[in-house]
Amino acid sequence: MKITVIGYRGSFPGKNEATSGYLVQSGDKNLLIDCGSAVLSQLSNYIDLNMIDAVILSHYHADHISDIYCLQYQTAAAYKLGMRKKPLEIYAHNLDKKFNNLTYKNFCIAHPIDPDAKLSFGDLNIAFQWMNHGAPCLGMRLEEKGRVFAYSADTEWCERVLEISQNADIFLCECSLFNRQTGQLKGHLSAGEVGKIAVNSNVKKLVLTHLPQYGDLNELVKEAKEQFSGEVIKARVGLVLEL
Ligand SMILES: [Zn+2]
Ligand SMILES: [Zn+2]
Repeated sequence: MKITVIGYRGSFPGKNEATSGYLVQSGDKNLLIDCGSAVLSQLSNYIDLNMIDAVILSHYHADHISDIYCLQYQTAAAYKLGMRKKPLEIYAHNLDKKFNNLTYKNFCIAHPIDPDAKLSFGDLNIAFQWMNHGAPCLGMRLEEKGRVFAYSADTEWCERVLEISQNADIFLCECSLFNRQTGQLKGHLSAGEVGKIAVNSNVKKLVLTHLPQYGDLNELVKEAKEQFSGEVIKARVGLVLEL
């Protein structure tokens, strides 16, 4: 499994950046997790958009879905011009009426995620859990031949984020706040909290993402490391993680 960070900012993208978007490649399957602002323009640096088989959306906040609508147009145009042969499959929970906008003619087909069931793509098995966020939001755990990549999506501290990240080889966790801001933004985590989750879950490698637009981001790594003695890095555009 190869994961490429396409965008890693919370709320809005900085210059030449994007908000949440992660390309996951396993065998011949290409999966995009979240499709936030500016993800499409960044994604084209790493893959032909027509090679994307499916998109998984964690929740419906704009920093995770805003480019999905342009991806629908791209898919439709490519289909009509013969450059794409299959519809784009889009997976998301259906507790929000925006789910109904994910199916786009015959070009994009929406599938509701049932967190009690696993999704399979080739060798990849994906399990979901509800996170604690301002809106229904799914964290996920991707497993390929015993190797685990977990993604928190957006959340504050909860039991279920511990469950999805348990013993993960790589845990990509949202880190929206510096320690001094802990609890100031409901539904999000501070660096120290993320470090504590990594300890509790016994993860091997921690990657901080959904990062703020201000402050010294190296401080976030330092604050997480004060809790967690394993490897901690911060996400950046183009970062490749391999399992
Ligand atoms: Zn977000
Ligand atoms: Zn959110």
